[in-house]
Parts: sequence; C-alpha cells; structure tokens
Amino acid sequence: MEAAGLPGQEFPEGALYVVGVPIGNMGDITLRALWVLSRVDAVAAEDTRETRKLLERFGIEVRQLSVREHNERHGAEQIEALLREGKRVALVTDAGTPAISDPGARAVAVLREAGFRIIPIPGPSAVVTALSAAGLTGQGFTFIGFLPPQGRARREALETACARREPFVLYEAPHRITDLLKELGETLSPGRKVVVARELTKKFETVISLNAAELPQYAMTHEPRGEYVVIMDEEPPKEEGLSPADEAWLRDLAPELPASRLAAIAARRTGRPRQEIYSWLIRLRDDQTDSQ
Ligand code: SAM
Repeated sequence: MEAAGLPGQEFPEGALYVVGVPIGNMGDITLRALWVLSRVDAVAAEDTRETRKLLERFGIEVRQLSVREHNERHGAEQIEALLREGKRVALVTDAGTPAISDPGARAVAVLREAGFRIIPIPGPSAVVTALSAAGLTGQGFTFIGFLPPQGRARREALETACARREPFVLYEAPHRITDLLKELGETLSPGRKVVVARELTKKFETVISLNAAELPQYAMTHEPRGEYVVIMDEEPPKEEGLSPADEAWLRDLAPELPASRLAAIAARRTGRPRQEIYSWLIRLRDDQTDSQ
C-alpha cells in the first residue's frame, strides 16, 4: 500500500467509490480496491452475502447495504442519505465491474445527477479480460452483454448483432450457452472467427477460437460448465474476385499481351486491384503451360 502511494492519495468524503472486484481469481483484487473497501463507511452490494465472503477473506469489517437490480432506486436513496452526511460509500457487484451487465448504472446516474462525486476504482471485467486473450484482427468492438433470454426479442437481437461487421461481445448464462453457440453458428457467416472464453481467471479457464461454421458441432460435443464470454471478430471481407465475363475476355487477350500490361488495362476496366489480376493471369499461364 505504501509503495503504491495509497496513503497520500485523495480520498474525499461524501463520495461514491465504484469498485471493480475479481471475476474468479481473488488475486486480481487491486491494492486500491482493498484500501478503499477497508476505509469507506459502508459498502453497497448487489448481494451482501457474496460480498461478505470477499470482505471476510481480506479481513475487512464494514457495514453493508443492498443495491439489487430491482431496488436500485431505493438503494440509491440509502446511499444518498449517507453521502449527504459526508460519508464515503463503495459500490460493488458480485463479480467484476458494477454497471457492466450488472446493477450500478442507475444508482450512479441518480447520484451524479444529485451532484455527488463518483470515483471509479477500476478492476477486472469479463469483457476486457476475454478481449485481451482473444487476438482479434478487427478494430474496436461493441459490447452487447446479455441477449434477451428468449422468444422473438432474442431472435431479433441475435440477428441484429450478427449483422454487425465490427467485433462484438456477448455474455451468456451457463444454462443457455449451448443454445447460443448453435444459434450463432446458424446466423453468422460461416467463416467469421469466434472466440469462446470460459471460466476466465479460474482453474478451468479455456479460451478457444473457432469459425462460426464449427460452433454447432462444438456446442454438441462440449458440456456447458461455468461462465462464458463469446466474442465475434470482424466480418471477413467478401471474396469478390473477377466476374466470369471479365475472366472470359482476359482469357482471350492473355496470349496477345504481356501480363503486366493486360493487368493494368483490366484493373481500369473492372475496378479490381491490378495485383490481383496480375496474379490471376500468372496462374492462368501456369495452368495452360502444365496442361500442354
Ligand atoms: N459485472 C461483470 C463484469 O464486469 O464482467 C459481469 C456480470 S454478469 C451478471 C455475469 C456474466 O459475466 C456471466 O454470465 C458471464 O457471461 C460473464 N462472466 C463473469 N465472470 C466470468 C468469468 N470468470 N469467465 C467468463 N465469463 C464471465
């Protein structure tokens, strides 16, 4: 704590501290999270029993209050009363970062609106953890989190998500992961790269990379166990190539003109890259030589 410079850091009163906690491996708690949790006047938790386990593990004794998804407004009122007295309150969820597919966002919005200082204490989140090991080729990503659990709303959300060309990330509950992987396999374009990250930071952590076409088979042969993040890489570029009509006139002219000159003319006429046409012409010449 000393080495991290924590005792000298600003720790204002009457502020809400939004604290990220581990998603499995307790070693991932940050020094700053421990420092804040052990000094605040109260911890507002999604599930106070879960948070008690975390606090006890690190020997922290602190008053708790409950901020569940369905009582977030009431929870925000309780926090607000404490902040008005100048108390410091930490907000945590069962795992990872509050407000990321978890309660917290509404309470933060209400308290920010009321003029209180909101201080983020960053920690793990399954989405960032999975992305860091996924090796995506695309730029940026969209975080979708959970799809609606069933019915038409789910089908429509899945189709809208799969139509995205940029990388996107889904969370899924263990009892729905098999269905999700099958649905993705049927909806994504077959060559799209998908990374399935399971039990991150835990004993049975696995991160595998597949093509969308392989997902249904994978779903049928792997029993769902634990928690999952599923990442879709960017949509692969379409193989456009030359049209059959362009190939036909190029075939006729190939014996008459040098490949480089013909490639330059054809690039102007077809809009395809000159290098692509040149390579096609060289393959054509090699095929014709082999067949003589
Ligand atoms: N707030 C959390 C965060 O910052 O990642 C997310 C909480 S959300 C209710 C729970 C979902 O997160 C799980 O269903 C799973 O999709 C994902 N998740 C959480 N922990 C995970 C882990 N260790 N490995 C893989 N996925 C995990």
